[in-house]
Amino acid sequence: MIRCHLLCYHWFRADGAEARGARADLEIEASRFGRQLDLLSESGFGTIHLADLLDPPPAGLPARPVVICVDDGSACFARFALPELERRGLCATLFAVAGKLGGRADWDPGEPPRKLLERGQLVELQSAGCEIGSHGMTHRDLRTLGDAALRDELVRSRDLLGEALGRPPGFLAYPYGACDARSKAFAAAAGYRGACAVALDAPDLLCSQRFCLMRIYVMATEPLLGFALRLLAAGWIRHEVS
Ligand SMILES: [Zn+2]
Repeated sequence: MIRCHLLCYHWFRADGAEARGARADLEIEASRFGRQLDLLSESGFGTIHLADLLDPPPAGLPARPVVICVDDGSACFARFALPELERRGLCATLFAVAGKLGGRADWDPGEPPRKLLERGQLVELQSAGCEIGSHGMTHRDLRTLGDAALRDELVRSRDLLGEALGRPPGFLAYPYGACDARSKAFAAAAGYRGACAVALDAPDLLCSQRFCLMRIYVMATEPLLGFALRLLAAGWIRHEVS
């Protein structure tokens, strides 16, 4: 059992820019994100990659490890979030939609079609210290797919990202954070080492396993106290990764 705070972000925006879309609460201002990072640092947290949970670095994990997960691989990450991370010497884990690199996030009609990171940018981000994972091929709810389509989402996205990055991604984030026993089994069979869900609808928040790693959503509009409370909640979760 490992204690590690797993946080989940989505989109970032310039200070003062209006949040867009039905889920405006998931598009955070750069400076607010920066203040959250400061709170993490001041509280003794150190960012790690998900892979570090399975293979701890020789020097060991930080006393208070945190993984900053970012779903969807939107271009706004590179523009607004990366500078905040780099300024503080922190890293993130980015989950990209492999079939839509360089395109638009067109899977949710309630959201603006945000620009997605290009293949070359992902390579640069990996070189800059980001961990890159898969978010499927086309951002479909894996629970709704037949066997062939499910396998395609998991295997082909892993292959495509592996070609781009020089090594296959170790981890998956289920689109919409949604998984069931079948999608977990297919993710393991596809070669992933683990996969992330979100704790939002989980029947048992504290049950976090290697193919259903529980992350806590960070809400973009919350004051810093709300973020601190979410950190507290994330701290209760023990991850079973063996
Ligand atoms: Zn997503």
